[in-house]
Amino acid sequence: MNVQSILSTKGTAVATIASEATLSDAVATLRDHGVGALVVSDDGSTINGILSERDVVRSIAAHGAPALDTAVGAAMSANVVTCQPADTVDRLMAMMTERRIRHVPVLDSDGTMAGIISIGDVVKFRVGELESENANLHNYIQGRA
Ligand code: AMP
Repeated sequence: MNVQSILSTKGTAVATIASEATLSDAVATLRDHGVGALVVSDDGSTINGILSERDVVRSIAAHGAPALDTAVGAAMSANVVTCQPADTVDRLMAMMTERRIRHVPVLDSDGTMAGIISIGDVVKFRVGELESENANLHNYIQGRA
């Protein structure tokens, strides 16, 4: 199974924020979308970086409450790890584990953003796979296959 199969179920929407926005804006945007990370993009399509809840926590731990008035661009990760729709879910899981990241934007072959996969999406997908495998084995054992 590949990244495209997850996108087909969850959709292609990506929550973004501009690098000039403040961390306070980012916190509100994370809440409004119910997500744990935002792709940072000044034009809504080109990726400038990624900002996760962890970056906000790190910034507040370092600077206190005034961090909320500083720009997203100063707290984001600028070297963004991405994947492609054809990548396998196993490869994506390995990427998340090795790099210790929980969010990976998906880029089409022409570089356009095609969605974002979170570790929660991967877990949901894997649990679904295991449940249907389990049901198939039960049916097989009981001679219903
Ligand atoms: P996360 O585990 O996704 O909440 O993020 C942990 C750290 O990794 C934060 O500093 C993020 O900015 C960074 N990060 C998250 N996703 C990516 C990604 N796809 N590429 C690069 N850095 C990332």
